[in-house]
Amino acid sequence: SQRTLVLFKPDAVRRGLVGNILSRFESKGLGIVALELRTIDGTKADEHYAEHVERDFYPPLREFVTSGPLVACVLEGDEAVEVVRAINGATDGRKAAPGTIRGDLSLSNRENLVHGSDSPESAEREIKIWFPGL
Ligand code: ATP
Repeated sequence: SQRTLVLFKPDAVRRGLVGNILSRFESKGLGIVALELRTIDGTKADEHYAEHVERDFYPPLREFVTSGPLVACVLEGDEAVEVVRAINGATDGRKAAPGTIRGDLSLSNRENLVHGSDSPESAEREIKIWFPGL
């Protein structure tokens, strides 16, 4: 079994989609290890997005992820990292396949509702950032 860090970004909370999104992960069979509503500051965003801080798209992304509460959670299950990324869909909601979270619910490249760790190594790094006690 594997763990992954998932964020339901501020657009998910604002739009009232937390239940809808969580339901997809639960229905798939993933287990909830930790789950918490949080509002983060820019420093925390920089830590989480360390590999993107120099990118052109980062300043507005930083603004967005600090714009209101988000839900941080750790999910677990067989191949959880890959399974969550498949359920999330492609980064750009306009291109994401129907049936995925982004494909069904987002029309944006930035406000794309969810984050999922991109590898088991990233998952361990991100879980330490968000849930140091785990
Ligand atoms: P995540 O890491 O959030 O699961 P991802 O792996 O699909 O998403 P990344 O390439 O890691 O996407 O980018 C991280 C986040 O930065 C995206 O989820 C999106 O919110 C934002 N982002 C990425 N590319 C762009 C872009 N070209 N324009 C605006 N925002 C972007």
